[in-house]
Amino acid sequence: MPYLLYYLIVAALLVLAAVLLGRALTFRSRRYRVEPVPGPEIDAGRAAERLSGAIRIPTITAADPEKADRAPFEQFLRYLEEAFPAAHGALEREIVNRYSLLYRWRGRDESRKPALLMAHIDVVPIEKGTEQDWLHPPFSGAIADGFVWGRGTMDIKNQIILILEAVESLLAEGFVPARDFYLAFGHDEEVRGEEGAVKIAALLQSRGITFEYVLDEGGAVTVGAMPGVERAIALVGIAEKGYADIRITAEGEGGHSSMPPPHTAAGAIGRAVTELEKRQRPARISPFLKEMLAYIGPEMKFGLRLVLANLWLFGPLFKRIFVNTRAGNALLRTTTAVTILEGGSEPNVLPRKASAVINYRIAPGEDVAGLLGHVRGIVGPEVKVEPLVTTEPSRVSPVDGSGFETVERAVYAVFPDAVTVPYIVMGGTDAIRYEELCEQIYRFTPMLISAEDLDRMHGTNERLSLENIERGIRFYSELLKA
Ligand SMILES: [Zn+2]
Repeated sequence: MPYLLYYLIVAALLVLAAVLLGRALTFRSRRYRVEPVPGPEIDAGRAAERLSGAIRIPTITAADPEKADRAPFEQFLRYLEEAFPAAHGALEREIVNRYSLLYRWRGRDESRKPALLMAHIDVVPIEKGTEQDWLHPPFSGAIADGFVWGRGTMDIKNQIILILEAVESLLAEGFVPARDFYLAFGHDEEVRGEEGAVKIAALLQSRGITFEYVLDEGGAVTVGAMPGVERAIALVGIAEKGYADIRITAEGEGGHSSMPPPHTAAGAIGRAVTELEKRQRPARISPFLKEMLAYIGPEMKFGLRLVLANLWLFGPLFKRIFVNTRAGNALLRTTTAVTILEGGSEPNVLPRKASAVINYRIAPGEDVAGLLGHVRGIVGPEVKVEPLVTTEPSRVSPVDGSGFETVERAVYAVFPDAVTVPYIVMGGTDAIRYEELCEQIYRFTPMLISAEDLDRMHGTNERLSLENIERGIRFYSELLKA
């Protein structure tokens, strides 16, 4: 009965099509509406002045703390005290390890766990040779064309100033938060936070303090950053990648190059590097990435929605396409970047030594030890493998708890047209230092920026619009009033 078989196949295909379509059609956006809480009065112009004052103090981090100019850091602490008198009157403030700040705003209800808002005081230097490209000098804090200009306006003095603006305005209304709020501003985030965030976290831990949620810098609200999505996306970091610089070294005999061995030290390193690029860590659709796609998928065009709603079937196909984009690759796996090659100095002399440094960004769920095993397995026993700088990836914070919901609600109150999407921060933040103190750690800065604006952070013409100043203050007010 060949017809029966034929009918069965057609029926199965119809069922499959119905399932795929059904899942795509019921793949609903997770956006919802939130009524903003009333007040406080916001004076964006005054806030811009105060941000400008903060930008004019060049708190530049130096990789070597001995060489850092500490005068601006002392000046910055004094500046905050003068600029925010009400906050400094009402909140308890501690200076931690000379230049970092910890504030406590006591709430009405002591039985509730406190929350922690974070930022950092230090900024990265201006790259040599780019000073002339700034429309306004990087430490001028110029207010022009509706923006405050300068290093730190986006990363991340804006966060310090706008949090304190919200506190200052709420204090003027006589407001007291429901729970305790802590504010922590480290002074060396850009060089790993060992002197700032690590010390603040240790101090809090010694007091037995744990937090309901922690909010640090990380994502922002972006337009046009994700192909296929027109809606603005509020990227809330729920994890950050780990980091490893690994050096591989091969040694050779040296001597004249007229009768060489089959492989010199330089050749051995070349081969190892080729293999490391070819045999990368596996790409996988992790539980975190599934979560992210569940939020972003419904905002996409129907074809993509059909694929993302049916990852059970299209997962391998999706992975194969996604891994070929740089951003997709970075979300799917631990990335491999060969950054330094060294070896040999004369054209006719065999190098005694050759080496390479590979920079890895480690996906959550993997670790440094596993990565070292992977590298050793590939380069073989003849090549020495040494970790130089390493940081484990963070834990992944939940999206179904009170912390994410609190942040999400504040996002929707201030950015009603955006969709909140959990994502992974590719660079490191101070937030990872608080993992012992909190399960729910998020990384988000309330500003609406374009894909092009991202280059301004750590780059040229960093600036923050007055609209973003207002949004920031409203966002932190929402959190403080929640
Ligand atoms: Zn930063």
